[in-house]
Amino acid sequence: MFGRTSDPASLLDERLLGELARARAAQQYRVRRTVEGVHAARIIVDGRPCINFCSNDYLGLAADPRVAEAARESLGRIGTGSGAAALISGYNAEHARLEEELADFLRRPRALLFSSGWAANLGVLRALLGRDDVLVADELNHASLIDGGRLSGAAYRRVHHGDLGDFARALQSVPDVESASTHGRLAMVVTDAVFSMDGDLADLSGLSRLCRQYRATLMVDDAHGFGLLGPGGRGAVAGASLGVDEVPVYVATLGKSLGCSGAFVAGSETLIEYLIQRARTWVFSTAPPPSMAAAARAALAILRSEPERRAVLAANLARFRAGAVQRGLRLGINGHLPETPTPIFPLVLGEEGNALELSRFLMARGYWVAAIRPPTVPPGTARLRITVTAAHGFAEIDGLLEAIQDGLATLDAPEAPALAATA
Ligand SMILES: *Cc1c(COP(=O)(O)O)cnc(C)c1O
Repeated sequence: MFGRTSDPASLLDERLLGELARARAAQQYRVRRTVEGVHAARIIVDGRPCINFCSNDYLGLAADPRVAEAARESLGRIGTGSGAAALISGYNAEHARLEEELADFLRRPRALLFSSGWAANLGVLRALLGRDDVLVADELNHASLIDGGRLSGAAYRRVHHGDLGDFARALQSVPDVESASTHGRLAMVVTDAVFSMDGDLADLSGLSRLCRQYRATLMVDDAHGFGLLGPGGRGAVAGASLGVDEVPVYVATLGKSLGCSGAFVAGSETLIEYLIQRARTWVFSTAPPPSMAAAARAALAILRSEPERRAVLAANLARFRAGAVQRGLRLGINGHLPETPTPIFPLVLGEEGNALELSRFLMARGYWVAAIRPPTVPPGTARLRITVTAAHGFAEIDGLLEAIQDGLATLDAPEAPALAATA
């Protein structure tokens, strides 16, 4: 009775299959690899043991038995679910304690726990900005900041990566910015602190000066700096000696250096109270499991009491960097590797196929470095995103560097026989 083409399910599939075919043809089709057991430097992926150089678990806390024990203890006492959104009946004492401890650690008045960095960025931007406002954003910001900015309805000014002059021009063009408070128009600047695919740092001091000059509000997403950079690992904003006055809106996640899951916003009493009323991804979402808050509290305590973890990481980063220079590896963007102490090293290979081939070559040698392709990074900049953590040993780092050098030599060879065998 109904023709095949009028069947809504098949219409949808037809459309999706077309898109999937396009992604496949562009070598942008992505597949998941399955990790068996712990997420650590030595990891079993798709059944084979290898060394993981594509993790955000920078301090090696994701598999720390003390963090797991804190979660287990809390699960035994509290159970699995928070039961409701925080404003209904889901706000547990574990959440409250974590928020207090994060605020204390960061020396900010208050913190608010979200279930993810995505939820935090969408919720915050949508709550703080409206159609009369202007958002000035670095072009390489995380996807959640881009989507949050669009969702807010504010005019979106995308500026060239790290270009303070471009930020200034964008702010100059905001109407009524000189009288922002009287007109009620908010100009906000938002940036990643550490750019997640390039590993470079935003010029937070420079952005802060611009914001003061143009009466704009600065929001910083410190997902990859929190726990690593700055005094005591208090993050890139503390590292630039900026406080709540200069960076009123600070977001960081618990899923990277803390090895847990979730995220938080830290700022003034007023900001947090406002977000509790208005951040829709927080108000209308089940509070995270109390056990995850308990785990994050344990991870934060380790971060505070074991500064040697950051020292080990620094030594590993120095080892990797020196070895790469010695071997003439072109790390960084356009062959430029900034002297920043971040654990993210891009090796740009250009075409998708090259990144995939080198990734496969490394896997065959026992190293896992995922290929990062457009649209995650700009077209023509497919890369390996190598992350070095505190859990790696020097021998593993040296081994990876040697394997990369061999892989690049094979990639350059006209016939590429070894690569063909592993593809
Ligand atoms: C990972 C990341 C996020 C998202 O955080 P999740 O907790 O993983 O949702 C947001 N911003 C940046 C810069 C990130 O790297």
